[in-house]
Amino acid sequence: MSSAFLERMKNRMKRDEEESRNGQFSKDEKIFKQLKEGKNVLRLVSQDYTFYTHWIAPSKYSKVKLFPDASFEGDDALRKNLFCTDYEPGAERWVEDEERSCVICELYRAVNAILDDNNSDLEQNVRAYLEDVAKACRPMKRTMFLCIDRDDPEVSPGKKGIKIVEFPRNLMDVFMSKVLDRGIDVIDADEGVDLVIEKRQKPTAGKKVEWIWTVDWVYDGKTIKESPLTEEERKYQRPDIEKMMYRKPDQELIYDKLLRDFKEMIDDARDAEGRKPQDSQDEEEGAPEGIVIPKRSKTQQGASASVKSKAKVEESASVSEDDEEDVPF
Ligand SMILES: [Zn+2]
Repeated sequence: MSSAFLERMKNRMKRDEEESRNGQFSKDEKIFKQLKEGKNVLRLVSQDYTFYTHWIAPSKYSKVKLFPDASFEGDDALRKNLFCTDYEPGAERWVEDEERSCVICELYRAVNAILDDNNSDLEQNVRAYLEDVAKACRPMKRTMFLCIDRDDPEVSPGKKGIKIVEFPRNLMDVFMSKVLDRGIDVIDADEGVDLVIEKRQKPTAGKKVEWIWTVDWVYDGKTIKESPLTEEERKYQRPDIEKMMYRKPDQELIYDKLLRDFKEMIDDARDAEGRKPQDSQDEEEGAPEGIVIPKRSKTQQGASASVKSKAKVEESASVSEDDEEDVPF
């Protein structure tokens, strides 16, 4: 048996344990409620937690690679889903220019700036490639709640508790209009009610699966059933969403592992802003053969592009796709 393999397994187990301790839960606890196809019944017990992430690993929805595959393995493996540090969940705002630290957003702005600057000169295949890169970098809006899972209240064998549920964007829209329409404070410990969330597949010819969401209440005859939390439910341990989700990634490591072409785009953008580019000597694979990523000329770079790109981040982020990935984090 290979000792390198055993070493790898040992490190992996250590990392898994550290990750679960960080969130105060052991790894066999089922603290994520996955909304399944069909009906789901749950009781929300917190306000929403909204933040942004970047899915940076290879994905069935993305045609481009930002990192060599090996970046997601080994001791210094990157997380596949990164918390975006350019958005402050507590303040519910994008940070100011000088506070920005998210390397993936930096790349996103650099790519968008090239697309903006070269409106007519870009060859069709280069433009298409860069648009795919921008899409792969786009921050995704995530909204989560704490809930009691009425379908399966146990978080570990014999132990009931509170889980984390993610509402995809389309569900969130339906949920908000339903709640505002009836004026029910669904998360209130005394006055809240159980929700019935139905997930159905939209009949489409395309390959991509789309979901239709409906939100309703649990009824007692014709009236909405009240669902005050019991004394026991009020004492359930609450997963610390902030601690589990708002984990700031190591931005230097992310930059280091990026494919060379993307590092160069970031370097050029930093250079234009008067920031010293980092060394990028690694000989890694880059854009597919035949794709030449254009350099931005000095005259085209400037503050206005930076501001414009930032606006684009916000705008594009709000149209994040439903159900991009199943993995909560
Ligand atoms: Zn970001």
